[in-house]
Amino acid sequence: MNDQLLLVLDAGTTSTRAIAFSAAGDIVASAARPITQHYPASGWVEHDAGEILACSRDCLEEVATAVGVDRIAAIGITNQRETVVFWDRSTGDPLARAIVWQDRRTADICAALKAHEPMVQARTGLLLDPYFSATKIRWALDNWPMVGDAARDGRLAVGTVESWLIWHLSGGAAHVTDATNASRTMLMNLATAAWDPELLALFGVPAGALPTIVDCAGDLARTTIAGRSIPITGAAGDQQAAAIGQGCLTPGMLKATYGTGCFLLAHAGAQPPVSNNRLLSTVAWQLNGTCAYALEGAIFVAGSAIQWLRDGLGLIASSAESERLAQSVPDNGGVSFVPALAGLGAPYWAPDARGLICGLSGGTTRAHIVRAALEAQGQQTADLVNALAADGVAAAVLRVDGGMVANNWLCQDLADSLGVVVERPRVIETTAMGAAMLAGVGAGLFADLPAAAAAMAAADRRFHPAIDAAARDERRAAWHAAVRRVLG
Ligand code: ADP
Repeated sequence: MNDQLLLVLDAGTTSTRAIAFSAAGDIVASAARPITQHYPASGWVEHDAGEILACSRDCLEEVATAVGVDRIAAIGITNQRETVVFWDRSTGDPLARAIVWQDRRTADICAALKAHEPMVQARTGLLLDPYFSATKIRWALDNWPMVGDAARDGRLAVGTVESWLIWHLSGGAAHVTDATNASRTMLMNLATAAWDPELLALFGVPAGALPTIVDCAGDLARTTIAGRSIPITGAAGDQQAAAIGQGCLTPGMLKATYGTGCFLLAHAGAQPPVSNNRLLSTVAWQLNGTCAYALEGAIFVAGSAIQWLRDGLGLIASSAESERLAQSVPDNGGVSFVPALAGLGAPYWAPDARGLICGLSGGTTRAHIVRAALEAQGQQTADLVNALAADGVAAAVLRVDGGMVANNWLCQDLADSLGVVVERPRVIETTAMGAAMLAGVGAGLFADLPAAAAAMAAADRRFHPAIDAAARDERRAAWHAAVRRVLG
């Protein structure tokens, strides 16, 4: 096995990539293609499924050829979640553009179904929002004659992006979706990991158009790359894959990705968690027919606050400069920054909230404001971690990734603000790493996920909390006072 590689296809929102990993977790080769974003109307976002497929094939061929296709033991797939593809099972051709997760065109459908939200949340763990696939499928059936006609003729195939890719890579042999992706459609019952007849009826989705829900690892399908038949043995949605790639395999292990926004996933164990704080309850993975679960929450504004200081205010020349400036002052000088530049998410849920910088004095410098903007990340994360704790998942460790965590000062401040150890991985491609680990388990290279994590995932650096509880509480109080002003 020493020379064998795991080839990952990462079909993301803005690009499709292929990455070859060694069984020790090193990246051996990679290739990428940008994906065209289509914005046909305000709030609408579409992809060309044919382009995603062509780019995927190109990237897989390119990497397989570069490393030598004989070395590839198996393929793992990870993907943008919730985005839904419509195709004709007799020809394999897309019937329409894919509707992307960011697309808000079904806001009215969601509003009309609002009374059903308690039932939907109880069954799916999700909140009724255009984000998820179900209302997108309903909309396509009603508004795209090609899709509606194919449904009536029994030719319609529907699936999230990994499902579309596996169907084609297997030559139409496998119409499957892994349980993590299925859990984001709003059609899957979280407790049974099966399509829920009442949800199918509520959203008017024909069961025959949907893929079969399968494990995240195992013999999912076979494909031919560079002339050789290779098994596809791993699949998971991007956030779940990142949590696996971060080795968050036991309850209380959290991963947070700090990019434009921040996505936090907390491993929650063997039972579907119930959130009373409007967090999402979702499948962490399904192996051997059994699901593990996670709680998920998002912070709308993370790195984009730093981007705004750079591009909106011109306060810094580069995002990286924020680290040096934050370090240059002993504290925030009494400044608080609530970066509600796009409303406030969990646990406040105030979509119309506006941002606030307060506590200014004659002595305030740009360093204080920049420091407060970075500190806001720790405070927002602490808000989410408290919501998780209220829902029954106490944080034991936080593993971080994303563009922002290059900032060491930020990582230390996260540890201080949360009072938990923050770990940054050696290989920051955690999403692809998770898909590689699943593929390795599915191909029998590793006995299970802990074995895969032990072989492939490693920490680059640990940040230990360095302030006491009193100082932590004082910071929390200042933050909450500022948030109250925003909400008031
Ligand atoms: P995405 O995947 O959402 O596009 P990335 O993971 O590439 O985002 O992260 C980019 C974000 O991280 C940007 O908003 C940028 O401002 C922020 N960022 C990058 N480097 C730093 C840094 N050293 N300190 C603080 N923020 C940073």
